[in-house]
Amino acid sequence: MGQADNVQRNGKSTKNPSFYWLKNVREVLERPRAKLAEMMRAPSSASSCIFCQIARSSTSTVLLHSDEKVVVFQDINPSAFRHYLVIPIEHIPTVRNLQRRDEDFALVSHMLDVGQTLLRKDAPNSKHFRFGFHQPPFNSVDHLHLHCLALPFIPSWKSIKYLSLGPLGGFIKAEKLLEKLKPLSPLTS
Ligand SMILES: [Zn+2]
Ligand SMILES: [Zn+2]
Repeated sequence: MGQADNVQRNGKSTKNPSFYWLKNVREVLERPRAKLAEMMRAPSSASSCIFCQIARSSTSTVLLHSDEKVVVFQDINPSAFRHYLVIPIEHIPTVRNLQRRDEDFALVSHMLDVGQTLLRKDAPNSKHFRFGFHQPPFNSVDHLHLHCLALPFIPSWKSIKYLSLGPLGGFIKAEKLLEKLKPLSPLTS
């Protein structure tokens, strides 16, 4: 299929073995997204970001939902029977840019609500769902996006992309992220 050599893509040809290993792990996890990554030649910024362009409806991507905070569209490389991405219209690069505060908690809660509502409607017979985010360096596009999956995974090996990798991070379920963002009650002593 002529896979581009993504290890060299950003010019970092380091021989540091741990760095190299990490790049390889990321390569395996994100391989189906290589095409999308190629579309974003420039470093991520709001003006060159493919997801910002989708949010502004300046691409042919069909939006399944849009409101003043988020838009939803199908993952270009679905890993399950239904696989949607919910993104904020605002350019927020990754989960690392979210903080424990009302605004961020409300945004992620809304993203999850919208994703759950759509999947319940579009995959009424599915019994298992997964909702969550890839944490850097395992995210493919530097614009926050909630993966919403109606399982089973297709093909089943794709489930590895949506597992927590412990100290390496990997995938974080939306509920777990919400726990991290939920503002602490000022009444708690
Ligand atoms: Zn963006
Ligand atoms: Zn992702």
